[in-house]
Amino acid sequence: MSSPSIIRTNTADLYDAHVLKNYARAPMTLVRGRGAQVWDDAGNAYLDFTSGIAVSSLGHCHPHWVAAIQRQAGELIHTSNLFRHPNQGELARRLVGYAGPGRVFFCNSGGEADEGMIKLSRLHGVAKSGVEGKCIKVIVAKNAFHGRMFGGMSATPQEKIQKGFRPLVPGFAVAELNNLQSFAEQMDEDTTAVLVESIQGESGINPCTTEFLVGLRKLCDERKVLLLIDEVQCGLGRTGTFYAFEAAGIRPDAIAMAKGLGGGFPIGAIWIADRFADLFQPGSHGSTFGGTPLACAAGLAVLDVIERENLLEKVRQQSVGWHAGLQQLAAEFPAQLAEVRGRGYLVGLQLTSDPAPYIAALRERGLLVVSSGNNVIRVLPPLTATPDELSRSVEILRAVLVAKA
Ligand SMILES: *Cc1c(COP(=O)(O)O)cnc(C)c1O
Repeated sequence: MSSPSIIRTNTADLYDAHVLKNYARAPMTLVRGRGAQVWDDAGNAYLDFTSGIAVSSLGHCHPHWVAAIQRQAGELIHTSNLFRHPNQGELARRLVGYAGPGRVFFCNSGGEADEGMIKLSRLHGVAKSGVEGKCIKVIVAKNAFHGRMFGGMSATPQEKIQKGFRPLVPGFAVAELNNLQSFAEQMDEDTTAVLVESIQGESGINPCTTEFLVGLRKLCDERKVLLLIDEVQCGLGRTGTFYAFEAAGIRPDAIAMAKGLGGGFPIGAIWIADRFADLFQPGSHGSTFGGTPLACAAGLAVLDVIERENLLEKVRQQSVGWHAGLQQLAAEFPAQLAEVRGRGYLVGLQLTSDPAPYIAALRERGLLVVSSGNNVIRVLPPLTATPDELSRSVEILRAVLVAKA
């Protein structure tokens, strides 16, 4: 008798036959990971600087995280939100510790977190204007990305994402990123919220300037408009502060989180400032799977490791030398690498041409990275990356730039 685990079917054939074709996938099949390394089914090792698109923030299979999930899986995995569980209460307490006085709602993804914030904007609009359906305008930034659900997709002013799905949810207006005047011009009495990413992730690593975020905070306060920040990609330590907006010294009215929060286990969350948290009342929002004991165990383990291993400080310190190495490449290969952007371990390499051949060449030399926006390569090391792994990534990039010069 053969056990199912030794039946060898070609994985690529299975995908070709049965999986929806909505992704262009890399050619290899990954089967194992440890720290910043992953291995494919032919035994090749790669330095994984995709981190599952900013998700596997502790690298792969961090022992503390694995133990926490294993322990919780043997105890209680799911209860629904009809009951309390210590893990959800504790994770909320710890996120409030980072975000400030407020309350947390748990869900399962970034898209679901953004959806919750957009629903908060509608409730605020009703409170502000006294009628439903009038004060619904949310101002978003050009090239923003807020997920694939109907609210978030409607808040994502990109043709490639909206095409084929109209009519969209009404009420979204677009302004220029880092242009306060442009946001001010869009603001009227029917405006309920501003929604921005502290650093745009999907459209090429475009950071909000400090002046812009400080200005937005002031403008939103003056106009009684919510400042909603999407930290799904840039949050949870990736930039060397827990939230990326901390660099500007502001506090939003709500924060969407997901990707790095579970370290690879699906979990999303929104934090809402005390002043607005009671807009949600029993029955007004929910999520069957949101904040399960297991998901929250994963989230707690991520925060444990970030704190115990001092990862925020490490990202800040180690990114200095790493960025210097990347900037050096831009200086050496200006015809190919026009600019290095970003903060901490959220870095965009602005190429002068299509990044696809570069990404393939990097993969062949053992470095995995992600494309982003307009001719940009996104480099997303796990927060646990060692100085040696960071310099190896620079050397592999150098080899590929030389080969393609
Ligand atoms: C990835 C991402 C989302 C969507 O998250 P999903 O978990 O894929 O639904 C939303 N906003 C930002 C900024 C993201 O990077």
